[in-house]
Amino acid sequence: MIQLIKGFKDVLPGEIEVWQTVERAAKETFENFGFQEIRLPIVEKSELFSRSIGDTTDIVEKEMYTFEDGKRGHVTLRPEATASVVRSYIQHKMYAQDPIRKFYTIGPMFRRERPQKGRYRQFYQIDAEVFGVDSPYLDAQLIFMLATLLERLKAKDVKAHINSLGCPCCRPNFQKALKELLDSKKEHLCENCLRRSEKNPLRVLDCKVPSCREAVKEAPSILDHLCDECRDHFETVKRVLTENGVDYEVDKNLVRGLDYYTRTAFEVLTTSLGAQNAVAGGGRYDGLVKALGGPEIPAIGFAIGFDRLAEIVAMQQTIEATGPTLYIAPLGEKATEAAAHWTMQLAARGISCETDFGGRSLKNHMKRADKLKATHVLMIGDDELEKGQATLRNMTTREQEDLSLDGLVETLAERLK
Ligand code: ATP
Ligand code: MG
Repeated sequence: MIQLIKGFKDVLPGEIEVWQTVERAAKETFENFGFQEIRLPIVEKSELFSRSIGDTTDIVEKEMYTFEDGKRGHVTLRPEATASVVRSYIQHKMYAQDPIRKFYTIGPMFRRERPQKGRYRQFYQIDAEVFGVDSPYLDAQLIFMLATLLERLKAKDVKAHINSLGCPCCRPNFQKALKELLDSKKEHLCENCLRRSEKNPLRVLDCKVPSCREAVKEAPSILDHLCDECRDHFETVKRVLTENGVDYEVDKNLVRGLDYYTRTAFEVLTTSLGAQNAVAGGGRYDGLVKALGGPEIPAIGFAIGFDRLAEIVAMQQTIEATGPTLYIAPLGEKATEAAAHWTMQLAARGISCETDFGGRSLKNHMKRADKLKATHVLMIGDDELEKGQATLRNMTTREQEDLSLDGLVETLAERLK
């Protein structure tokens, strides 16, 4: 028997109800905040990711699913969505119409990571990106939107962590100070971090190896090195979050794994998922649109780990599948054909409806209706068909009533709407 590949998974009925609830809540929330949905390809040229995510990141160094595609050269299964959203924004010159655009997109991402609980090789993200706004009010609004979604999903044990990564004018000073500390801690750093501390010391702060985490505890704070503009920006973000009741914590060692972030960076962490505790991450990336060949347009975004969010929601509430509104229980061949007709007509009119063609007894029909969690059952035998009437039973109140077959579909459509 062929089994699915480790790190990949099937989302089946039983679990899918939570996924649908999360997806609906995300769409509704983001649309309330003025976002539009876009859908983008899963495969892009590899260069898009190596240029935007950065050659020194784990993702580009070792996690991408890349293959050769004839004349197209190397292509990659997208490991995240931002690069593609930016590519699309630039390619379609969306800024020409109106530089301010707000998009969200939901779909699978691929990273060749070590599979474990909460960490898959195909996972899903809900991604939101805003272009053309450099105001700190937007940064706060985006974090507020994320908090609103989590609140609507009744996700408990989640908290926003925020930091500022400065900008190209103040970050180098910090990098220098950090580098000095890292040089003094060389014997405690993992091999990757020894390399990172040369190329991109900030990324050492993001390392999950315990000895590295310990070593950076004494790291200088980037917040002490911000230029006036970046400091004002960060102060405003914090003030607006506080004014709007968002519970957050400043975390001086929070950096994003991706190279293109500037200023505000944030993560939503949970205490309920063990080691894989990041539910969402995002931040400002004012330089990326230009770096990918577009005009100088600021941008900010975040990605929610769909799988992890769904897991939290599932732990904290039960979301069950709803059954059909109506189950039609036919007794006899003619009644079964009539049931087939009515089922199709009612389903086409938007009433969720089920029947069974197998010639069951009434008792077995009722068992099946129960199993499907139907709220109503229509009982019809060949005899009743002759007499021109059927019996409708409300499965909750157990009340029954006889309905005329004349205009039955309309009557039921009206009654069960
Ligand atoms: P982590 O620190 O857990 O590796 P990350 O910083 O690599 O996360 P991002 O690139 O910021 O993650 O992606 C945003 C979110 O996507 C994460 O907060 C997480 O919830 C989710 N995510 C990332 N990688 C995976 C994965 N392999 N499996 C499941 N979810 C993931
Ligand atoms: Mg990661």
